[in-house]
Amino acid sequence: MLNPGQEINNEGQLIIGGCSAKELAEAYGTPLYVMNETVIRNNMRAYKEAFDKYYGGNGRAYFASKAFCTLEMCRIAKSEGLGLDVVSGGELYTAMKAGFPAEIINFHGNNKTYNELKAAIEYGVGKIIVDNLNEFRLIDTIAGELNKKVSVSIRIKPGVEAHTHDYIKTGQIDSKFGFAIENGEALQAANDSLRYSNLSLSGVHCHIGSQIFDVQPFKDAAVIMLNFVKKLSEELNISIEELNLGGGFGIKYVDSDTPKPFEQYIEAVSETVKETCKELGMEVPFVSVEPGRSIVGEAGVTLYTVGGIKTIPNVRTYLSVDGGMTDNIRYALYKSDYTVINASRADKNEDITVTVAGKCCESGDLIQENVKLPKTEIGDILAVLSTGAYNYSMASNYNRIPRPAVVMVKDGTHRLIVRRESYEDIIRNDI
Ligand SMILES: *Cc1c(COP(=O)(O)O)cnc(C)c1O
Repeated sequence: MLNPGQEINNEGQLIIGGCSAKELAEAYGTPLYVMNETVIRNNMRAYKEAFDKYYGGNGRAYFASKAFCTLEMCRIAKSEGLGLDVVSGGELYTAMKAGFPAEIINFHGNNKTYNELKAAIEYGVGKIIVDNLNEFRLIDTIAGELNKKVSVSIRIKPGVEAHTHDYIKTGQIDSKFGFAIENGEALQAANDSLRYSNLSLSGVHCHIGSQIFDVQPFKDAAVIMLNFVKKLSEELNISIEELNLGGGFGIKYVDSDTPKPFEQYIEAVSETVKETCKELGMEVPFVSVEPGRSIVGEAGVTLYTVGGIKTIPNVRTYLSVDGGMTDNIRYALYKSDYTVINASRADKNEDITVTVAGKCCESGDLIQENVKLPKTEIGDILAVLSTGAYNYSMASNYNRIPRPAVVMVKDGTHRLIVRRESYEDIIRNDI
């Protein structure tokens, strides 16, 4: 399997966005994150066009920056006209330093601090998505101190929870995020918001999961949310302008993954939204989504150099690379599937089965098990595909391993967007 913008040349070398993996590895060293700008921009445009087409522009995609948050990424989102979703003071700071327009930033999180909220209100973010009752009080106090009025949404648990192939409806009360509809919590929270004069509740938000392939859970969530919007209007006289349906659209990690083009999700959900609004006799609100993984996931590749090969007879072959759980924690965390290819011999038959291991002092530090590769030698470059989301952003300095550099490729050109950390960086805050 290869992702968009990738090919194998006639020397068996993996080419990403017109650049050879081998040359990138030589120029920048490994491990290396490679992001394809063309793929990122195409994905952003696909969302934007879908909103124009199916909602007549009365909606927006916000890039969920937690998937991949750097200055350059914020600049790209800005230039493509997407909004941004941030979940911490650090992501907000990155966006503001990149010159991102505050009015199209959503601020999420289940425990925003006084300082984070103060910064958000000072910058003038478009919406703060409130997650608990104390937050209303805190926002109202800070807004009062700053003499501002703040527009907020509330995070709702619609009772639909989905992951990849299956989903459940009911009883998703046990989540640290948001207010449940089914036990009256959500309505009570909305009612509570009316006590505060420095904020106004004008949006509802839900996020039902991640790496979802099925469109039905998104439709179900939309119906539940719209009924709640109606209820807010009838029972509390609160008028909701924005319905935010969150992110979660799936991508291809391995051949067996079957995501739909995200335009199809937007189209299908827009039909449900329009029909439901008609049934309920209300206007179609401004509709938004917050894709993270589906914008950057397939655009990313991680390159490693093979440094050790250990065959344990009748057990397995370990192939050790120069990165690991420090740059990709997802296999250790959730046994996530990835496609691994030998970028130096991508044209050869894949006739050996190996476990690709990282270099951390941890037996669970594996990139992937049961990987089919051609006969591989020390010094070969391995490429792990679909690492653009939640890899760099979850990277750590475990074992005092410096975080890799990030390179952006586009039409045969490449440029550094995040420098490789140095040992000096690693001790920077030590006293
Ligand atoms: C994580 C998250 C997203 C993005 O999810 P993806 O699966 O990456 O699309 C969007 N909104 C919220 C609130 C999230 O927590």
